[in-house]
Amino acid sequence: MKFSFFCKQCKHRYAVDEPVWRCTCGSLLDVEREGTFDLQSVERWDRGLWRYRAFLPVKQDGNRIRLGEGSTALVPFDLDGRRIWMKLEQGSPTGSFKDRGAAVLIGKVKEIGVTRIVEDSSGNAGAAIAAYAARADIECHIFVPESTSQTKLVQMQAYGARIIPVSGNRQQTADAALDAAKDCYYASHSWNPLFFEGTKTIAYEMLEQLESRLLHAMVVPAGNGTLVLGLWIGFRELLAAGLIDRLPKLYAVQAEACRPLVTGWKEERWPVETILPQPTLAEGIAVSCPVRGRQILDAVRESGGAVLCVEEEEIRSALSEMAGKGYLMEPTSAAAIAGCRKILPLLPREETLATVITGHGLKTVSTIEKMAFHRR
Ligand SMILES: *Cc1c(COP(=O)(O)O)cnc(C)c1O
Ligand SMILES: [Zn+2]
Repeated sequence: MKFSFFCKQCKHRYAVDEPVWRCTCGSLLDVEREGTFDLQSVERWDRGLWRYRAFLPVKQDGNRIRLGEGSTALVPFDLDGRRIWMKLEQGSPTGSFKDRGAAVLIGKVKEIGVTRIVEDSSGNAGAAIAAYAARADIECHIFVPESTSQTKLVQMQAYGARIIPVSGNRQQTADAALDAAKDCYYASHSWNPLFFEGTKTIAYEMLEQLESRLLHAMVVPAGNGTLVLGLWIGFRELLAAGLIDRLPKLYAVQAEACRPLVTGWKEERWPVETILPQPTLAEGIAVSCPVRGRQILDAVRESGGAVLCVEEEEIRSALSEMAGKGYLMEPTSAAAIAGCRKILPLLPREETLATVITGHGLKTVSTIEKMAFHRR
């Protein structure tokens, strides 16, 4: 497979080896691919994300950073009397699915000789980027909102990232990073399209793991859309390759407290006014102004899915019930389970639904501790 960067706005194209993360016109870049996915080119002897190296933009084996990402389990689970499938991404090296995006992005960054990067994150993306940068010997600066959870900060610092706290909200943190990106490579999980080449491998794995069982729908949490868009890209490749008959319906879940995509979906417009997010347990999707908002809405629409939101109480009870069954997940991931509960009754019984458990509960122990449930 061959790759390039493309700007839909001004039609400019860049080689994938150029150190760009957005177009000179200021617009978002997307990765364009030449060639199709095929199962014969999967390196079946290799476990993990790099078994799909033929479809990833990192050429040299030495740049394929390995911390044990990918090849996560897909397990059946009975939810409200219905069978669903859960892709267990909380078992990733840094505890969230963001490792997939970081592995490919940082691998490519290393390949083109970048030695210093900036990123902004309030948690898991920062941890993933910090870990992969550490492994690749790349200096890493991460802008974080002052409100960032202590556990995630400790994790980023332990990997050796330099942390720059920014007072104010998440948007102000992003602005500070954008400013720093004027003279440093921006390894942004929202702007940089290489990140999505990593998250798309979840779709490849689902194909291999479900074998002949057709997948009808996926319910996943959405903030910046690296998961929704990664799935959309991956499943579109599988569709183009004739390996699936149609895209699974993608359902994007947001928290009631911060739901710009829900507003955009209902009112069929983008952008929507930047909202002031209310506090939510689902910190991983508390993004008030996702830069790829329009793309997310278009992807969901093309798949035949929808955007929906869940309330704090629904997140809390999903988390509590899942923990009671042995699955300790981040509240953000529990939001997707709460979303599954809304979508399941709308799906015919014979249709297959899957979700992604995006992050490990150990990342948010202090939040979970405050929730104080299961005191029998
Ligand atoms: C980042 C993240 C999400 C949401 O992903 P987006 O790419 O922002 O849509 C969901 N769950 C967890 C645990 C995350 O870290
Ligand atoms: Zn452009």
